[in-house]
Amino acid sequence: MHCSTLALLLVVILAAFLAYRRGIYTADGAAAGVAVYAAASLAGTVWAVLTALYVVASILLSGYGAEVKASRLGRLQGRAYHTWRHLAGRLGWGMVLVILVQLQHTDVLDYAFVGVIATALADVAATELGTLSAQPPRRLSDGVATSYGAPGAVSQIGLVAAAAGSWLAGLAALVGYFIVALRARALWNDALLWLPMAALAGGFIGTLSDSLLGAVAQSRYYCEHCRMISRSATHWCGLNASHTGGLRWVTGELVGLVGSLVGGSVTVLIMLLASNI
Ligand SMILES: [Zn+2]
Repeated sequence: MHCSTLALLLVVILAAFLAYRRGIYTADGAAAGVAVYAAASLAGTVWAVLTALYVVASILLSGYGAEVKASRLGRLQGRAYHTWRHLAGRLGWGMVLVILVQLQHTDVLDYAFVGVIATALADVAATELGTLSAQPPRRLSDGVATSYGAPGAVSQIGLVAAAAGSWLAGLAALVGYFIVALRARALWNDALLWLPMAALAGGFIGTLSDSLLGAVAQSRYYCEHCRMISRSATHWCGLNASHTGGLRWVTGELVGLVGSLVGGSVTVLIMLLASNI
């Protein structure tokens, strides 16, 4: 392991530990965050930097305005919701790419990973900042006002945050590849300059597909006790919630995987077009 990726490992471990202590990550979520970083660092410095960026940013964004979000989402104070399943939905394809790149390194895998991180960063920024919006969010499929945290809910703040998050992932990748090339005194690929734009488009379209699929197909539940929408059959309060819509097998994690696949593919497509200019 390179010394810069080792230093980042310590940052990720510290962030995950603090997130666990503050109730942002569950113990398995914190362990998964560190494991995902360690796996990504095997694929290269830029992959490590991008993964660390997502893990640390998701913790900071989740901690920001935590009290307001807790009351809006009916999330019990100190009850962590970033579990390993949650992380698997956002970075599952990223881990498949980590394995593929060990077999054979190609630029397409690099671009796809940037797109996966862009979608994950867009999604967490939109969710965490959108929940703080003064206006209730609207369901993406039909524009009807819905409650905070409902599957497929979008807000204006959330959309702007999604664009900023995905662009940031692309910019981080561009700076990362530039420094790597500079250090190795290697030839610089001009197509890489398109990374921020490609990641912006990929992450934004990826997170919109996530919201659209969430609005039309994701299973929805309702907790009679808290009078709130729940994303799973067991509400945060620990009581059973009744199924009120969507397909039972379409979970938030599955929706996340689909959005992430779309985001990665769009990023790859734009980068391939850019490479041929
Ligand atoms: Zn409840």
